[in-house]
Amino acid sequence: MIYQSTRGKAHEVSAAGAIVEGLASDGGLYVPQEFPAIPLDVIVGWKNASYHQIAATIMGKYLGGFSAKEVDEMVSAAYGSRFDDDRIVPLVPLNNGEMVLELFHGPTLAFKDMALQMLPHLLVHSLQKNGVREKILILVATSGDTGKAALEGFCDVSDTAIQVFYPEGGVSPAQLRQMNTQRGENVAVTAVKGNFDDTQNGVKGIFSDRDFAKTIAEKGYRFSSANSINWGRLLPQIAYYFGAYAQAMANGRIQAGAPLNFVVPTGNFGNILAGYYAKQMGLPVAKLICASNRNNVLTDFFAKGMYDRKRSFYQTTSPSMDILISSNLERLLFEITGRDCQQVCDWMKALQEKGEYQLSEEQRGKIAADFDAGYASDEDGKACIQQIWEKEGYLLDTHTAVAQCVYEQYRERTGDATPTVLVSTASPFKFAADVLDAIAPEKRAAIDPQDAFEAADALAEMTHTAVPKGIDELRILPVLHKDVVAADDMPAAVLHALTQWK
Ligand SMILES: *Cc1c(COP(=O)(O)O)cnc(C)c1O
Repeated sequence: MIYQSTRGKAHEVSAAGAIVEGLASDGGLYVPQEFPAIPLDVIVGWKNASYHQIAATIMGKYLGGFSAKEVDEMVSAAYGSRFDDDRIVPLVPLNNGEMVLELFHGPTLAFKDMALQMLPHLLVHSLQKNGVREKILILVATSGDTGKAALEGFCDVSDTAIQVFYPEGGVSPAQLRQMNTQRGENVAVTAVKGNFDDTQNGVKGIFSDRDFAKTIAEKGYRFSSANSINWGRLLPQIAYYFGAYAQAMANGRIQAGAPLNFVVPTGNFGNILAGYYAKQMGLPVAKLICASNRNNVLTDFFAKGMYDRKRSFYQTTSPSMDILISSNLERLLFEITGRDCQQVCDWMKALQEKGEYQLSEEQRGKIAADFDAGYASDEDGKACIQQIWEKEGYLLDTHTAVAQCVYEQYRERTGDATPTVLVSTASPFKFAADVLDAIAPEKRAAIDPQDAFEAADALAEMTHTAVPKGIDELRILPVLHKDVVAADDMPAAVLHALTQWK
């Protein structure tokens, strides 16, 4: 399997090459040369298969140069005891006919774990194949969730180390506790005096400083990022669409071979693109419904064929979807133009220079065959959490609630009764305060906003369940990371961290 850049001006690479490089040298994203077909009888045969079996088969198809044994070992290491459900991605049927695909059973209670538990193993194997001898040093600037998921993915993975920088005072109390209690022999967590932009600029500055790269090379390291456009983050996400389908057959919600819709809470367009790739491979997918919050740039794009980033940015209660440039959309543009790299280059240039680009009617029609889209406000989302809780006794998180709202609008508008999977990207306990606000505003009003646990405890009481381990254990874990540095001192903080690791 060969990979090429969406912009057509970079060398073709192997799977390992795509994973090591991340971004192609021409600024494009790596895409597989073809989508390997999975015959329907194989898919139907997965009715009672383990997630491990499905994931290893799907990923193996894209990992030329990796042995079946290697793929097996990586999948075992990624999707094992760190998940709190044997099914890894349980599909929960609701009484209203929908099914919820819970992608939040990993260590940080959100779907980023699906990719970030796998990426470190892909990266380490890819480096070995490319003859890279240095250890990998991952640097992350985070405003909250990605940092923790990356820390959990890389902690104690041999030949890697990870340092996460976050803005001091710029993350929630729960996020702070998640990060500053992080265990692992190869991790560092450092607060930066400044806001998220200062933090991110600091990391970018380090990445682009060649002399600094030499300094750390002398110490046996080389930099890499765990960026969401890396092929190694997208690939693991294709598998759970097949996993969902297998479970829908097993629990009798669909006949073998029948189509399924998926509605996906979307930010950077990685999750839903993986669903599109699954469809290209032969999974019976009808519509992929793209759900956005008030930052509805994608809704407009699907409706009008015009991508227009020139708009206000809103902070919402579904923060992981607060985004104005959905990077992975470039990979979809590549496919719907029949892999026309020049067209993709022209659009990306227009996006950068004019803040917009426009598809033709024909191109828009092509997208409409596979996708639908909509958006929901925080208020709508909140009402949705309340309703599903009341009618189903099931608690949605704020991101999944956006998807549920958009699906209800879609049903109303189209009358489409195809069985539908609601892709759930976070545990309600992860966004406990806003979820509590939807189902018991009086309780929410009474809690201390600076307390990391009160809202989760109140939810646990109302749902008669335990607070998930990933949050509960934070109460007793010791704080291990206390360093605060000025933005200018971030390189020094990296050098200091290097002296701490073996
Ligand atoms: C990252 C994230 C999303 C958005 O996923 P994309 O792949 O960027 O579209 C949605 N919900 C949650 C909880 C997330 O963490």
